[in-house]
Amino acid sequence: MARPRAPLPSGADVVVVGGGVVGASAAFHLAEAGAEVVLLERDQLAGGSTSKAAGGLRAQFSDALNIQIAKRSLEACKAFGERPGWEIDFEEIGYLFVLTTEAEVEAFGRSVALQNELGVPSRIVGPEEALELCPLLTGQDILAASYCPTDAHATPEAVVQGYAFGAREHGAHLAVATPVEGIDVVDGTITGVRTPHGNVTTGTVICAAGAWSRACGALAGVHLDVTPLRRQVLFTAPLPDLPAKLPLTIDFASGFYFHREGRGLLMGMGDPDELPGFSTERTDDWIPALLEVAERRVPAIVSAPIQGGWAGLYDMSPDHNAMIGEAEDVSRFLYATGFSGHGFLQGPATGEILRDLVLGREPFVDVAPLSAKRFERGELAPELHIV
Ligand SMILES: Cc1cc2nc3c(=O)[nH]c(=O)nc-3n(C[C@H](O)[C@H](O)[C@H](O)COP(=O)(O)OP(=O)(O)OC[C@H]3O[C@@H](n4cnc5c(N)ncnc54)[C@H](O)[C@@H]3O)c2cc1C
Repeated sequence: MARPRAPLPSGADVVVVGGGVVGASAAFHLAEAGAEVVLLERDQLAGGSTSKAAGGLRAQFSDALNIQIAKRSLEACKAFGERPGWEIDFEEIGYLFVLTTEAEVEAFGRSVALQNELGVPSRIVGPEEALELCPLLTGQDILAASYCPTDAHATPEAVVQGYAFGAREHGAHLAVATPVEGIDVVDGTITGVRTPHGNVTTGTVICAAGAWSRACGALAGVHLDVTPLRRQVLFTAPLPDLPAKLPLTIDFASGFYFHREGRGLLMGMGDPDELPGFSTERTDDWIPALLEVAERRVPAIVSAPIQGGWAGLYDMSPDHNAMIGEAEDVSRFLYATGFSGHGFLQGPATGEILRDLVLGREPFVDVAPLSAKRFERGELAPELHIV
């Protein structure tokens, strides 16, 4: 195994486990606030799910907390050039959810009303406007679409590198190739973490281990109900005559989505037959179903040469909503995981929330409904607009 570049500090106020968008954002916000932070990543920064994300940032959710967290993240990403001071290719391309049943139109209508109440400028548009917004779309069956012009796209690895840069500027120590193998807990209190390259004494640990959070929680005796689920995307060769600006467009009934990726298109869709597991090997068996939807929704894609693709993991929670909070049985074990496909967009604001939970400040939203204990208590917080 590669060795980290510098010896680990012997102690820290906070140890963050995981160097994806959530861990890097937490490290930045905490270091900026003056905490001594050590971030431990077993692979490389953004080496987990974050580098596999499609880069979509949207505030179009059904759950009020998700809308507020996403809105805050969008604001943070828009201002990323000033704070922490990094180029992340942020572009307000908009998100367009294509709706084909009355039930969808009704549900999205309710969500849009809630989003508007919370300051998100989304709206329901008719089929003609949907086709104008996304000229590649086809389909007589389109009843309406839910559109938000301030939804956006950014480069996931750049967001992580930007937060890592900012965290280091504020004195944080970020170690790659450093797996956390043990979390010491004495009488319900954390005393330190163990790695093959040395131990770090600390009273506070943040689990930002993405799809691997169940194992990370178990190191401290905390149950985190996170299940890894493979998701795959494909991208095409450059396409002639592609509109300069296209919204990230989602056929909600099938989950098929696409957006501009350079001079071509990137597309993805969930596979209902995918079983939970950690494999990120690419497969072909999901592609015929994707092409079937593409053929009726975006025929231009079907004739486009496929240039490549990749597979990564969603960190699924039982109700498809994040778990953010502090463990009840182990003092100062915090977690932010189970984002179920929207962790890239929730990462920036989640780092801010984690900072406040660690420092005993009041976060900008009350995350009590996102407690990992809600599943034991049967208090689910389902999110309806999952892709
Ligand atoms: C194909 C695909 C498309 C997606 N598209 C989007 C999108 O458009 N928008 C969106 O919001 N989300 C999207 N997502 C989801 C998003 O990628 C994740 O929700 C998000 O990246 C989770 O970030 P994270 O920091 O929690 O986890 P990760 O990025 O996975 O980071 C966790 C890190 O923890 C490290 N780790 C684990 N265990 C240990 C340990 N014991 N010691 C040290 N390190 C450890 C891992 O190596 C990893 O680097 C997509 C995901 C996939 C797969």
